[in-house]
Amino acid sequence: MVRIGWVGLGNMGAPMAANLVRAGHVVKGYDVSETASTAAARHGVEVQRSIAGTVTDADVVFTMLPTGAHARDVLLGGDGVLSSAPTTAVVVDSSTIDIATARDLHAAARESGHGFLDAPVSGGVSGAAAGNLTFMVGGDADVLAAASPVIDVLAGRVVHCGGPGNGQAAKIANNMILAICLQATCEGAVLAERLGLDSATFQQLAAASSADNWALRTWYPVAGVVETAASNRDFTPGFSTALLRKDVGLALQAGKETGTDLSFAAAVAARLDVLIEKGWADRDCSILVDLVLRSRTA
Ligand code: NAD
Repeated sequence: MVRIGWVGLGNMGAPMAANLVRAGHVVKGYDVSETASTAAARHGVEVQRSIAGTVTDADVVFTMLPTGAHARDVLLGGDGVLSSAPTTAVVVDSSTIDIATARDLHAAARESGHGFLDAPVSGGVSGAAAGNLTFMVGGDADVLAAASPVIDVLAGRVVHCGGPGNGQAAKIANNMILAICLQATCEGAVLAERLGLDSATFQQLAAASSADNWALRTWYPVAGVVETAASNRDFTPGFSTALLRKDVGLALQAGKETGTDLSFAAAVAARLDVLIEKGWADRDCSILVDLVLRSRTA
């Protein structure tokens, strides 16, 4: 049994923490949202009123927060993770955040004497619930080895990507590809329907053909085709439009810094901005399909 502190019990954090409880670990959790806390408590997470109370006796601490700014607050704040967790604890940030912040957090953890990993994940809420996420890890191999028995409960695959920030670098490039594949899947799904094809038949053949991609298999944007898709739940997230826009923004920033032309990513970012302007930041990002559905140019 490992004592785990978990900060951020949202769409991803809640099912991940629940899997650790199911595996027999003691999980203390904290979230600023009462709704998220109550839901996590139903899965056996011992909900706390502060970050300090959550991590004070932890062997491993996870943070699963929206952005780099949230991660900075939670890790570096006055009564935050690094000032409250014992130095024997390994701290794992699984949020998707910018590389510079991730490297700052590594430096701060070195100073406070904690082992630290940037370890963002891929696989969505379905992968979180199934415990088969891919972890992309940046940091020291010995710190990863110490955290592995716990990470392995949540992971189908763990890839050590290199030193500080490299987990985030991998995740940012990965999610840029996801965003482009999602947009392509939305366009293909609507086109297939308008050409008179049955959506389920088309999705199955495309998943077995050269159009195959994760968004097509897991987030097909037409209701009634793929069980894990938010299109079945009126686009309740899942993965919010705001968070995918954040990730594509991180890719565009990295593109600027490395002099890389990312014109497809820029096009998807513009579409996500339209959805956010419509007030849909909190809806699942596969609602990108709505913009395709609204198009009737012929
Ligand atoms: P979410 O918004 O559902 O959950 C984030 C949680 O953090 C919320 O419950 C929020 O209340 C909480 N929070 C914010 N500030 C806090 C603070 N100061 N202290 C404690 N709790 C705080 O987001 P999510 O979908 O679970 O995503 C979390 C991270 O994982 C993001 O960086 C996202 O990009 C990444 N991610 C998401 C998915 C997905 O499919 N949803 C997949 C892979 C990675």
